[in-house]
Order: sequence, then C-alpha cells, then structure tokens
Amino acid sequence: MNDAGITLALSKGRIFEETLPLLAAAGITPSENPESSRKLIIGTNRGDVRLIIVRASDVPTYVQHGAADLGIAGRDVLNEHDGNGLYQPLDLKIARCRMMVAVREGYDYEARVTQGARIRVATKYLNAARSHFAGKGVHIDLIKLYGSMELAPLVGLSDAIVDLVSTGGTLRANGLVAVEHISDVSSRLVVNQASLKLKRTLIQPVIDAFASAVGDAARRHP
Ligand code: ADP
Ligand code: MG
Repeated sequence: MNDAGITLALSKGRIFEETLPLLAAAGITPSENPESSRKLIIGTNRGDVRLIIVRASDVPTYVQHGAADLGIAGRDVLNEHDGNGLYQPLDLKIARCRMMVAVREGYDYEARVTQGARIRVATKYLNAARSHFAGKGVHIDLIKLYGSMELAPLVGLSDAIVDLVSTGGTLRANGLVAVEHISDVSSRLVVNQASLKLKRTLIQPVIDAFASAVGDAARRHP
C-alpha cells in the first residue's frame, strides 16, 4: 500500500478518457497519457495521488487486496468478480453500454428457444450469461472466451454470444443481430474498505468531487 497517499486503478482506453473530467473535478491531472506512455504507474499534479494502469478485469483484484485504494470498473467486470472487501459508493455513468445476446442474422433464436433446444453461448461474461439463461429456463452450453466474441457464431463455435454493445457497429459489421437485452452497464467507483477507514481524509473528498461531477454531467445529459 502507498501509505502517504492514495492509488487509483484505471484501465486504458474508454475508461481512462471518460475518467479524466472526473479527475479534473477532484483537482487531479495525470502527468502522462497511458495510451502514449509505457508506464504503468502514472503520477499526477498531486504528490499524494497516483494512478496505476491495469487490465479492466483486474481492477477489482487490485482494489480488493489494497494494492489500489480506489478503482473504476464496469458493472460487467464487477459482476464477474468473486470476492468481497469492495465498497461501491458511486455509479459514475461513464463507459455506458448494454449487455446483449446476439446471434447470426437469419438464425431463428426465438424458435430455438421455444423448441427447448440447447444453445451454445460464447462469452467472457459467464456469471451474467448463466443467470440470464437460467432465469429464462433455457439450457445452454457455455463456452468461455477472452475477447472477439463476435467471431464465434460466424465460424460455428457457438449459436449465440453474450457481449457488450454500444452503437451496434461491430455486430452489424459481422452480420450479427442483438436479440435480447440483459442489462445496462456503466462504470462504478470501487473503494477498498480498509483504505476508506485509514485514509478517509484523502479518499472522501475524491468520492465527493466525483459524485458532484457525475451529478453535473447527469443534469447536462439527462
Ligand atoms: P478489455 O478489452 O480489456 O476487456 P475494454 O476496453 O473493451 O476492455 O472494456 C473496458 C470496459 O469498458 C468494460 O469492462 C465495459 O465496462 C466498458 N465497455 C466495453 N465495451 C464497451 C462499449 N462498446 N461501449 C461502452 N463501454 C464499453
Ligand atoms: Mg474490448
């Protein structure tokens, strides 16, 4: 643990970019852009705040073990993460998308489901897929993938995928269509519970600044 200051775990790309305005609201400016820098520990204008850049699905792990005091992770990732010790005080409403079931164009999903057929589902979201299909009483064979799920139905690995969709452009480009909405996804702030007790004077102002920045953004784009 970084005893004197606080460490915030972020992932590159969308989450980093959409977090910048929230950091700015908390008076924090990263000293480098992780897209162009190879550094995994990034300083800020504040000597008591540093950022670490980790894989999106690893954010909860760093925070749970206290290697980071705070982190930002998608609801998709948090739902797949088993373990406790994570306080989730705030929905940041960033990196918004939807978790969907998608199939190849022309595949009669409804008919297959009504016939009670067993459906092969490829996804990296095992928990989400399991509970979605269990809730519908549909029997599935789950195939775990780590990415590029869109490929699976095209090459006969699966009948359906469970994946995140925002514009639908990637599905369209691959001849897939969304057939079911599972949940709305956005990113949340997660905080290590022990850190919150020990470093409240540093952490609480960050939570408060993020909360008011999210409120402001929500008022601008309701
Ligand atoms: P990785 O490739 O490491 O899985 P991504 O950059 O694709 O990470 O996604 C990181 C997070 O961004 C996801 O956990 C999710 O919460 C969010 N996300 C993923 N895809 C989308 C999307 N199409 N639109 C908006 N947010 C998304
Ligand atoms: Mg991705």
